[in-house]
Amino acid sequence: AARNKGETEFLQAVGEVLESLEPVVEQNPDIIKTGVIDRIVEPERFIQFRVSWVDDAGNVRVNRGFRVQFNSAIGPYKGGLRLHPSVTGSVIKFLGFEQTFKNSLTGLPMGGGKGGSDFDPKGKSDAEVMRFCQSFMTELCKHIGADTDVPAGDIGVGAREIGYMYGQYKRLRNEFTGVLTGKGLTFGGSLGRTQATGYGLLYLTEEMLRCMKNDSVAGKTVVISGSGNVAIYATEKAQQLGAKVVALSDSDGYIHDPDGIKLDIVKDIKEVRRARIKEYVQSVPTATYTEGCTGIWSIPCDVALPCATQNELDGASADKLIQGGVTAVAEGANMPCTPEAVEKLQAAGILFAPAKAANAGGVAVSGLEMSQNSLRYGWTFEEVDSKLHDIMLGIFHAAYDASEKYGSAGNLVMGANIAGFLKVAEAMIAQGVAY
Ligand code: NDP
Repeated sequence: AARNKGETEFLQAVGEVLESLEPVVEQNPDIIKTGVIDRIVEPERFIQFRVSWVDDAGNVRVNRGFRVQFNSAIGPYKGGLRLHPSVTGSVIKFLGFEQTFKNSLTGLPMGGGKGGSDFDPKGKSDAEVMRFCQSFMTELCKHIGADTDVPAGDIGVGAREIGYMYGQYKRLRNEFTGVLTGKGLTFGGSLGRTQATGYGLLYLTEEMLRCMKNDSVAGKTVVISGSGNVAIYATEKAQQLGAKVVALSDSDGYIHDPDGIKLDIVKDIKEVRRARIKEYVQSVPTATYTEGCTGIWSIPCDVALPCATQNELDGASADKLIQGGVTAVAEGANMPCTPEAVEKLQAAGILFAPAKAANAGGVAVSGLEMSQNSLRYGWTFEEVDSKLHDIMLGIFHAAYDASEKYGSAGNLVMGANIAGFLKVAEAMIAQGVAY
């Protein structure tokens, strides 16, 4: 903790994983001697850099860029880039650390990384976003590569930003390789990547309900926070599976539509017009809009899927969900539930799927995009979606089986941490201490 003073998010994420590993250490005390636990919490490399660019009014603007290359024991570093004013070194380190275990759980050969900048894309013109992305990539390109480190999108980084960054990388390095994932379909992107995290979240939630409660998503009332990429495609798959999604949000407030969210209207607001979620009530007057985000958890529901951002669901929100009759919570965002919320939900017997298992669908399809780029071939949407489905079921069972083996059957937080850790740890031990 002393070495990472003040890095609240990072210490929170490490604390949670180390706590889960206690039964592993009890069963295999020799693991301590390998130093693997001390090594795994220290990033292999942390890069911080200046990103200067010129806005439309001709002013020079300066942001801070980051890339953490956390762990490459099982494959090239892999993880998204986040553009948001809340981005700090601690946020990037927590995300890179989590990514290491998540990528391991997918069963694909990917190490852990993460990056981004405190640049705020909100209110910026296309040209400003492009100049920022080009400046960002001018430095980042020195550190990444198709066999070294393969970034992707995250909050604030979608197809547009990946396109600008890919173009700049290609220009600087004079090579057409799969160095980024989430690319446009005309230049090496994978079908199904846009939908992957949201769809994958529902595949895992469905399997969790089936195996642990002999139940399914069909007929359930679902509350989803956020209205970005993950939230939109979680809504789409939940509806396809027969659930009714009644709420969505953004960082200003939330909408409640008891008749079920009309997703075409949400897509038009968020994906086409890049506007605010409150505009939904202009098209659907029977729906309501409420300022502030946390109130969304007081809407009674069977399934809650936090898909916005870290620490958005705290202990008080967990109490509201429990009072509202929730039976399952699965994290679409990264670390959206505070430790207190997780504790309360688990104590109340609510099924709980942690982010590193539940939202791994995005990086899994990114891994499949890398495979397709290496093959110089593209699979159909159905092929990708069916592989995604298999991977999500595999993740659920890996986490469940580990929870059983280490004495906490059904505790998927513990199971996901242990299953993710064991594979990376074994590879690190095999590759020697200095690796
Ligand atoms: P987007 O930028 O597409 O969307 C984020 C959404 O969350 C926006 O609607 C944003 O609203 C909203 N939001 C932000 N802060 C809050 C808040 N405090 N309360 C309510 N809503 C809020 O991002 P993604 O959908 O891609 O990512 C969402 C989460 O999922 C992140 O934690 C990300 O790391 C994680 N994730 C994403 C993956 C992917 O494939 N996209 C893969 C795995 C994880 P506003 O417009 O107001 O900012």
